Amino acid sequence: ADRIISTEPAPGDGRDKALRPLSFDEFVGQRAAIDNLKVFVSAAASRGEALDHVLLSGPPGLGKTTLAQIVARELGVNFRATSGPVIARAGDLAAILTNLEERDVLFIDEIHRLLPVVEEILYPAMEDFALDLVIGEGPSARTVRIDLPPFTLVGATTRAGLLATPLRDRFGVPVRLEFYGEKELTSIVTRAAGKLGAAIEPDGAREIARRARGTPRVAGRLLRRVRDFAEADGETSISAKVADLALKRLEVDEVGLDSLDRRYLRVLIEGFAGGPAGVETLAAACAEARDALEEVVEPFLIQQGFIQRTPRGRIAAPRAWTHMGLEPPRTSPD
Ligand code: ADP
Repeated sequence: ADRIISTEPAPGDGRDKALRPLSFDEFVGQRAAIDNLKVFVSAAASRGEALDHVLLSGPPGLGKTTLAQIVARELGVNFRATSGPVIARAGDLAAILTNLEERDVLFIDEIHRLLPVVEEILYPAMEDFALDLVIGEGPSARTVRIDLPPFTLVGATTRAGLLATPLRDRFGVPVRLEFYGEKELTSIVTRAAGKLGAAIEPDGAREIARRARGTPRVAGRLLRRVRDFAEADGETSISAKVADLALKRLEVDEVGLDSLDRRYLRVLIEGFAGGPAGVETLAAACAEARDALEEVVEPFLIQQGFIQRTPRGRIAAPRAWTHMGLEPPRTSPD
């Protein structure tokens, strides 16, 4: 489905590159994470050593790729990127690893989706900077160990919980990214508008920020679409009113929920009396993939207090009922 506020990259996002922050100082928000990373990066750089492996986790569009690029840039090393699902064979990863230069950053997006045979290669590579290759077949097969240059693996995942423990344990620096607040997103929108050469009023930026699902990627996308509407309507700058009208037309409501979010809440409330309902059941009823619900839809609804995840299933919180214009049940289901 083509969600305007989908947090997954979309074709038009190529222009996003122009909006990417290039240094820690340009990166808005996530202060705790950034402050830690800065210390480790400058320590590694001054010792001339590779930075410890970093695991970035959090919902899509919060800046994991951007941060990995910034880390490489601040270390002054090459940035190589790949992703879990595209590495089909152990040999593919071996080829990438043997081409790394000393202290390079290797970024693996969606690292929770690596195949087990590929993951096996990664363990000695991360721990000992070594590659164990099996040469030959059958009784004459033997293992040869090849040294790799010290490097930094930056893994990104939307589902840290799905990572195998031995893999997770090999990351010295775990970093969890959180949804952004309205103030941070307002400054991201304002800065992005500047880079796009779009005139925007402070209230206009705030309106877009409030409705961007706590996600910079969504903020950037909404800004571009709002600007299109503003231009089509002959507006010279994006005011709160212009932004509100455009966002209404995009079916993004006043708290940033889109039609899929609202469909999810409606199914949970009307179809299952507010739950508990299992995620498989909800996915089927919404005609959406379970992964999309778990990785994109639910994290924001949980963070905003619309739903709760319990061992028995998902439950609609009172805020979900009132948001849908309904009276919450008197006794809470739990
Ligand atoms: P992820 O890898 O987590 O899916 P990205 O790093 O691709 O997210 O970020 C998505 C978009 O949001 C990028 O275009 C980037 O410019 C923007 N972005 C992300 N985080 C920030 C931030 N802290 N400040 C400004 N822009 C950001």
